[in-house]
Amino acid sequence: MWNKEVETAQLEQMQSWQLARLRENLHRVYENVPFYKKKFDHIGFKPGDFKKLSDLNGLPFTLKNDLRDNYPFGLSALPMSEITRIQASSGTTGRPIIGTYTSSDVSNWGECCARALTASGIGKNDIIQVSYGYGLFTGGLGLHGGGETVGCTVLPTSSGITERQVTMMRDLGVDSLCCTPSYALTIADKANEMGIDIAPLKIRTGCFGAEPWSDEMRREIETRMGITAHNIYGLTEMMGPGMSFTCNSHDGWLHVNEDHIYPEIIDPVTEETLPYGEIGELVFTALSRQAMPLIRYRTRDISALDRKPCPHCRRTLIKMKKIMGRTDDMLIISGVNVFPSQIESLLLDTPEVEPQYVIVVRKKGHLDALSVDVEAKAHIYEQGQDIIREIAKKVEKHIHGVIGIHVAVRLVAPRSIQRSEGKAKRVFDTRNT
Ligand code: ADP
Ligand code: ZN
Repeated sequence: MWNKEVETAQLEQMQSWQLARLRENLHRVYENVPFYKKKFDHIGFKPGDFKKLSDLNGLPFTLKNDLRDNYPFGLSALPMSEITRIQASSGTTGRPIIGTYTSSDVSNWGECCARALTASGIGKNDIIQVSYGYGLFTGGLGLHGGGETVGCTVLPTSSGITERQVTMMRDLGVDSLCCTPSYALTIADKANEMGIDIAPLKIRTGCFGAEPWSDEMRREIETRMGITAHNIYGLTEMMGPGMSFTCNSHDGWLHVNEDHIYPEIIDPVTEETLPYGEIGELVFTALSRQAMPLIRYRTRDISALDRKPCPHCRRTLIKMKKIMGRTDDMLIISGVNVFPSQIESLLLDTPEVEPQYVIVVRKKGHLDALSVDVEAKAHIYEQGQDIIREIAKKVEKHIHGVIGIHVAVRLVAPRSIQRSEGKAKRVFDTRNT
């Protein structure tokens, strides 16, 4: 464990840290961010009124649009002289979302990523290859900071130039790979092409995140690379990667660094706070962030929380369920809610296909129609159209049996789907274009 005192703290102790930090941040935003002063005044709330953690329930939410409306620095609580770093969200549409950091914010972020790396089995003697993109995207610099905090050797390859990723991993004896799960597969494919088998190499673990991925995808990465694949979660608005991470339990739950960010789950429609165990939208409140402390930020990520002790490690940090999808990614097909990751799980149940797919949504008359192109394994593709169609039908039946909607499945040629170097774009919605 990187920080045993915090990661195994008793609930009472944790809550007293949270309360103290929260009070401080409520004062900070009330006094320095006109957006929050206005919101708090509107409901007649004074930071001095805040007595217990559950008082958070009555406070207003912060939305993604509030960040866009207050672009670039409207939600910063400190003058530029205190800001030492700016990062931005990877979103490609609309105004970018900017995150500002003080040096203390950057060091807390390093601490959170250090806990994640340690939980994935990384220590001072190891080499980590950071193949998340460096730059405005928080993936690269986030894991880089975590690696430096741990004191391991950081190889900052960034994403891209995939052939070099493979040769450096082999030549330098890298212990851990940090990148998006889809890029991990791209690297594995490239290694194959180069005739290099990753499994026997020294690499034994990895921290993957920044996009939703199924358990089936995890197993695929683990077998192809001969490693244990860990999940790491975060978003630019609150910090970046490292907000939560998996231990060795691999039961689909991530420990949340709840001394730095306070999690809640709400019903996205009624906005009510939901009890532990129920599925809803994740909402976070910044506890230690100085430069841009967001209060009750609605992430649009779907998850659940659980306070039960972890059966595998002694961490007491609250757990969040692996992200099931983003409300913005949810497709409504003939009245049924579908997340792309559900389709991914079902595709990967099929041994004849590769974990490379795209989902297309289009209007068919008045109805929404969903189709999936998925790559056939090379030895299957060589067997000809009859076999290919038969397998496509089998996959269609499987999806229909589990989700209850008809999806037109096409098996396409190996390597015909574009490989990802960062966050994969797998859904193409043509309904409004
Ligand atoms: P965006 O993708 O919105 O442009 P970020 O680059 O900050 O912004 O990415 C944050 C988002 O990425 C999260 O809100 C979440 O939807 C997704 N994400 C990050 N880590 C994970 C993960 N481990 N599993 C699933 N989704 C993740
Ligand atoms: Zn655990």
